[in-house]
Amino acid sequence: MNRNAALAITACAAVVALWFLSGNDIEAIKPDAQTSTREGNTLTIGTGSVSGVYFPAGGAICRLVNKGRKSHGIRCAVESTGGSVDNLNALRANDLDMAIVQSDWQFRAVNGTGRFSDAGPFSDLRSVFSVHGEAFTVLARRSSGIAAIADLKGKRVGVGRPGSGQRAMMALVMEALGWRRKDLARAFEFATSEQHRALCAEEADAVVYVIGHPNGVINEAMGACETVLVEVAGAAIDDLVKERPYFAHAVIPGGMYKGNAKDVKTFGVTATLVVSAKLDADIVYEVVKAVFDNFDEFKGLHPAFGHLERGNLVRAGNSAPLHDGAVRYFKENKLF
Ligand code: GLU
Repeated sequence: MNRNAALAITACAAVVALWFLSGNDIEAIKPDAQTSTREGNTLTIGTGSVSGVYFPAGGAICRLVNKGRKSHGIRCAVESTGGSVDNLNALRANDLDMAIVQSDWQFRAVNGTGRFSDAGPFSDLRSVFSVHGEAFTVLARRSSGIAAIADLKGKRVGVGRPGSGQRAMMALVMEALGWRRKDLARAFEFATSEQHRALCAEEADAVVYVIGHPNGVINEAMGACETVLVEVAGAAIDDLVKERPYFAHAVIPGGMYKGNAKDVKTFGVTATLVVSAKLDADIVYEVVKAVFDNFDEFKGLHPAFGHLERGNLVRAGNSAPLHDGAVRYFKENKLF
């Protein structure tokens, strides 16, 4: 990732399209298909909460893969999961074929650091391509008076589900600020879909996400009660970004959401698609081909993809080696 560049958070209209999984995959699977996954020709992509961006991102990838099913025989399906950390554990246990994970957790998994230090390096982890930028996003109820990250001290905060990337990233932010768990009045582990309900019901003062923008949950929350996006900046955050290659400063552009007129400074990561080295190279090749050959269509499938550029998705955020199937496509198309 270019550390000096703001993340590729798009400034497109805050109208978040409703996204429907294609339910009409009725073509027969090619009987003589050469490819194989854990379950015959079904490729399962681990994502996140159904109300996040990973789930529709996985859906967009599958939609394009399934369009070519008659020729390659692969049936792609998405699975809703707890998020990045759960996805990496499931991939390692061979419970998923592919997964979307934050670039910082990809880095720690392949190196066996942080919460993956007990498990050791996941040396079979392979990257395929990166997707959208994700911002560490703090949303507060306006009446809470929270205006900056430091104001979360002593407040009731939704930190995310165990197994989610956001929960683990919040722990790092707290560490950087020199806080312990007791520095929050409460730390709730709401699911992504529950967070803004708790915020508007005044059960929580603020909630945290690590998510691409614009997205449906923030859009909905900003319309459901008086909320503000909180700036995540200052010396501790600057040090965090400086020390770690997978973090970059980011901005949630003003005007992206109703009620959020000004740019909000924060920092973030990149969402990345990963697999195990064991997955058949022909399958990985077909997935990359489906997305990269139909890139304009892919970009239109979620507003957070609006400003993606093909060339940037090859290396940005990918610390694990690229899978052979992805390398084949990138070389053929002079992207590598
Ligand atoms: N970055 C989040 C996580 O790994 C998931 C965000 C999403 O679902 O869009 O926990």
